[in-house]
Parts: sequence; structure tokens; C-alpha cells
Amino acid sequence: MKHIEIVTIGNELLDGMIVNTNASYLCQQLKALGLTVSAYHAIPDERNVLKRLLKRTLLESSLVICTGGLGPTLDDNTRQVAAEIFDSGFRFDDGIAAALRERYGNDLASLHNQATVPAKAIVLPNSVGTAPALIFEGASVTLILLPGPPLEMHAIFEQSVIPYLQVRLPEIGKRVTEYLILAASREDEVDPVLRELQETLPNVDAGIYAKLGSLTIALSTFQEDAEARRELDQAKQVLMSRFPDRVVFTKRGKIEEDIQELLIKNNATLSTAESCTGGSIAAALTAQAGASQYFLGSVVAYSNEVKKRLLGVKQSTLDEHGAVSEEVVIEMARGALLATGSDYSVAVTGVAGPTGGSDKKPIGTVWLGVASRHGIALTWRLKVLHGDRAKIIAYTVNVALCRLWQTVNTF
Ligand code: ATP
Ligand code: MG
Repeated sequence: MKHIEIVTIGNELLDGMIVNTNASYLCQQLKALGLTVSAYHAIPDERNVLKRLLKRTLLESSLVICTGGLGPTLDDNTRQVAAEIFDSGFRFDDGIAAALRERYGNDLASLHNQATVPAKAIVLPNSVGTAPALIFEGASVTLILLPGPPLEMHAIFEQSVIPYLQVRLPEIGKRVTEYLILAASREDEVDPVLRELQETLPNVDAGIYAKLGSLTIALSTFQEDAEARRELDQAKQVLMSRFPDRVVFTKRGKIEEDIQELLIKNNATLSTAESCTGGSIAAALTAQAGASQYFLGSVVAYSNEVKKRLLGVKQSTLDEHGAVSEEVVIEMARGALLATGSDYSVAVTGVAGPTGGSDKKPIGTVWLGVASRHGIALTWRLKVLHGDRAKIIAYTVNVALCRLWQTVNTF
């Protein structure tokens, strides 16, 4: 496996004097490059501790980044230790010396020390401080040494390390992540399938993020590895065949964004008719910037009167089937299409509790409907177990968004 590890060096990190911002900065920067950090370490300015840790992490990783201990003082060991591991002598770098003289004059006491660099290392200039950064390239591992002061470290990382890494990404192991959402699913149903995938497709890492009413599955693998990419596609196929009517393809795992993108792409508009969710579906959708491009409006039809007057739900339907019924949710969805002129609509009616439940329609019974201008009306009966009012609403909103995406994507 291609591991990436970070080693942060400095006594002050361990006595709690400073917060280890170098570690979090590097994790964020690497993530933005598509690289996942497996571990970071904080160790004291002790030569033996550093040597032991570096040897181990270099054997297990494709990239190790160290910060700290590059200065000229007695407790700065990093250059020396890395040179020993890579069996490198030292040389005097005239370019670094000239740049230091230009910035600090001839009196810089540490000039000779800071311009003496391991002969086998690539030298990256430090435009902010005195210690240059160093890169050692092994056969299957790269070691990058950066100074500890955050301002210097950030400057070198952004000016020199990012361009360097971008060229080397295939070897270091840039990862690609794809997300699926499974509507109305529980972890205990999906977990066995993911365990099976781990056995059969070892190059794919799968993570589960549970929300009320849906599960997001993150599948990741090495971007530049054709075999690994095939395994990722296979993993998606397996999930699609096991949970055929539940899958939502999502760009970043945020379904509101996917719905917005899909509807805008199809040049289609949407409205909602909401009883027990009280407008929460509309609120979730309109929290996205740009929602006005497809979202027309919502009728919060809480009372039967409003269901009849604004959505055209028939008194006879209410009498015959009750407000929480498939028949009523279809009339609500169709009514929203008529009332707003939208291409699609989502409607919900349910018992969110804590009162109002019955034997036939216990608390947590929700009917969900999605209708389109072309005459399609699909319905789902949700049974939200173990939930208070807020949970039933959150669950319903999530499932409604999944079912809406599936309907628009299919019809
Ligand atoms: P110098 O030439 O300044 O000695 P150096 O490369 O040897 O540079 P260190 O001595 O390890 O770096 O660190 C210098 C300063 O940078 C520390 O006093 C501390 O304030 C800050 N620093 C070091 N490591 C970290 C870290 N991981 N997170 C945040 N700040 C750090
Ligand atoms: Mg130092």
C-alpha cells in the first residue's frame, strides 16, 4: 500500500507549548492534491528517536514529510539523520550561500551551516527564513524535509513542494474517491456487502457515513492504476446489483447539490408539497446557492383545508383513505405541479408524532410521492422506527431527496 506519513519534530510540540498546526496544514494541503495521509507523528528533538521513526516510516511509505529540526543549532538533527539513512555526504551550495548573503549580508553566523546540504538531496530555497528544504528520492519512497516555523514551511510548500508533488503524483499514489448514496438503508444491511468487497477487491477502500434515512458510501483507490480503477468500477456494480432501487450517484456526497445539478442540466423545475415535514425539504434544497434556477416554491399543506384549497386534494379522498395515504400524497404531488407549473414535484404526508398515531398508521408512517409533468407519479411508504419528531422529519427529508434524484435521473 502507498502510505503517506508526516513527522513533526520539536520538544515544544510534546510539552504542549504549541499546537501542531504543521500537521493539520500538511494534511489539508495533501488532501487537496488527492493524497491521503495515513498517520502523523510528533516527536522530540532527539536524534535516536528521529532515526528510528524515519527508518520505519520510510520502509512503509511512498512519501514522508518532516517538519522541524533543520536549523543550525545543536538540537537540529534532521539533515544529519536523513543524510545518514540515505548514505549521503555533504556539499557546500554556492547558490544558497549567495542568496543568504544577499538577504542577510556577510555577518550571518549560520551561513556556512545552512548552505551545507546533503549531496544526494534536491534543495528547495527558503524565501522567508534561512534553512532550505530538502528532498531525498529513494527507489520507492520520497522524503521531504521542511523547516518548522509555519510561515517558512507554508511558503516553501506552496512555492516548491506542490509543483514537485504534482509531477510525482502517480508514483506517490494520488487517490480518487467516488460516492454513492443508498436511500432508506441501514448500516447493518450494507456492512456485510462492504466486507465482502474488501476481500474480493483489495485495492478499493470503502467507508460508510450514516445519516438518518440514507448511507453514503465512499469508494476510493489509486487514480493512476488501471487495475485499481477497474476494481472501483466493479465495487460500484456490486452495490448497484445488491441494492438496485436505492442507489444515488453523487459527486461529493451532498445530494442537494446533485439534485440541483441534475435539474438544471435537464432544464427542469421543481416544487414541493409538504405536510409533516413543514417545508424542510424546500429548506434543504434552497440552502444551496443557485437554487432559484430550478426551484419554484413549496406549499406547506399542514391542514386538510390547505391540502384541499391550494393543492386540490379531494374531500372524498381524505374521507376514504385518510390524510396519511398513498392516494392523498399523489393528489398533493399533482396539485403542486398545477399550482406552481413545475416539471417535477415532491409531496409528503405522515404522522410525525408524538400524538396522532394509530394501529394502522403508527407514528413514523409517512407517504412520499414524486410526480412529473409527463404523468409519472411514484410513491413510497416509509416506516420510520425509533424516532422522535425531529428524527422522523430528518429521515423523511433525506429519503425524499434520494427518491427525487432517482426519479429525475430515470424518467
Ligand atoms: P529554526 O531554524 O527556526 O530552528 P527549524 O526547522 O529547526 O527552524 P524548529 O526549531 O523545529 O524548526 O521550529 C521552529 C519554530 O517553529 C518552533 O519554535 C515553533 O514555534 C514552530 N513550529 C515547529 N514545529 C511546529 C509545528 N509542528 N506546528 C506549529 N509550529 C511549529
Ligand atoms: Mg530549530
